[in-house]
Amino acid sequence: MTSREPALSVVVPMFNEESVLPLLVERLRPVLDGLGEPYEVVAVDDGSTDATPIVLTGLRRGWPQLRVIRLRRNSGHQAALTAGLFRARGGYVASIDADLQDPPEVLVDMLRLARDETLDIVYGVRADRSTDTAFKRSTAGLYYRLVRRLVGNTVPAQAGDFRLLSRATVEALRELPERRPVLRLVVPWLGFPSGEVRYVRDQRAAGSTKYSLSRMVRLATDSITSFSGAPLRLATWLGAGGMLLCTVMLVLAIIAYFRDSTVTGWASLYVAVLFLGAVQLLCLGLLGEYIARIYTAVQGRPSYFVGSDTADLVEQPAPDADLAEPLPPSAAAAPAARNGATRSVR
Ligand code: UDP
Ligand code: MG
Repeated sequence: MTSREPALSVVVPMFNEESVLPLLVERLRPVLDGLGEPYEVVAVDDGSTDATPIVLTGLRRGWPQLRVIRLRRNSGHQAALTAGLFRARGGYVASIDADLQDPPEVLVDMLRLARDETLDIVYGVRADRSTDTAFKRSTAGLYYRLVRRLVGNTVPAQAGDFRLLSRATVEALRELPERRPVLRLVVPWLGFPSGEVRYVRDQRAAGSTKYSLSRMVRLATDSITSFSGAPLRLATWLGAGGMLLCTVMLVLAIIAYFRDSTVTGWASLYVAVLFLGAVQLLCLGLLGEYIARIYTAVQGRPSYFVGSDTADLVEQPAPDADLAEPLPPSAAAAPAARNGATRSVR
């Protein structure tokens, strides 16, 4: 294996993680150095607005295996992760959060398991989430139950984005036309042989969570709508239920008419109108979710833009002596930008 193809790439998406980075390096580096094999750490700076890029530049001076990809704007955890996965060069590609909630030591077990049992995917499964807040635990529990119901049991419960993938799996992911893949669902769906390593999820080592409630809701909505038309069928069932209810009410109204007691009942009528209105709005909302996804897909915009990649800087070919004419700065920058755009199409 050449130095261009490390045995392992570790992708670390990060957004405003200046405080946790030195701690991460302190724990991750000994683990990776201890492997005794060539590796790279792909830090994906997801458009941080704090000192993260500066800290990364400093860290890179003392750690040549650290590669920094900077996205032009904050694109979200999944997009940053995808950017790192698609640009990683390792025979195996692992992904881990920057905040040390996923213990780096587990990476060694994952790699060993993948090799010993010739597995393409090894999931890090959270054996214990007692360090998470009660709210996070219960919403996560609900999320995994729902997703397993919709996608099937191939999705391991309590497995986030801490996992190891073989090169074949990464290439299969790249083949997919999806722009915003929810990796924790798409990866099991690929059907490669997989295994699990259980670990205890620690507390965030420093800084605060970057997953706001709205981001969590978005991940859940993306997960469901990208994998299942079931909510649309729910609309059908609600519609059918509403019609049945109305038929019953019609029968009751006819009976009431023949019994001469038609004055009462305005309240039930009122409720029925409100109920049907709500069902219609709900169904429109569901349709809107899917139409929004189709719209995004048709627009075809990349989910991220790579601004710079330190690997591109290092590996620029030396200018040919015969073609010594210097390129204008804009033209020189063009290949990297183009490269970023085409990569991000997936
Ligand atoms: N993250 C990112 N882009 C974002 C939000 C988060 O790259 O827009 C990174 C973040 O820096 C961390 C990982 O995604 O490395 C998981 O985020 P976080 O720990 O805040 O989520 P939580 O563990 O609280 O669910
Ligand atoms: Mg975290």
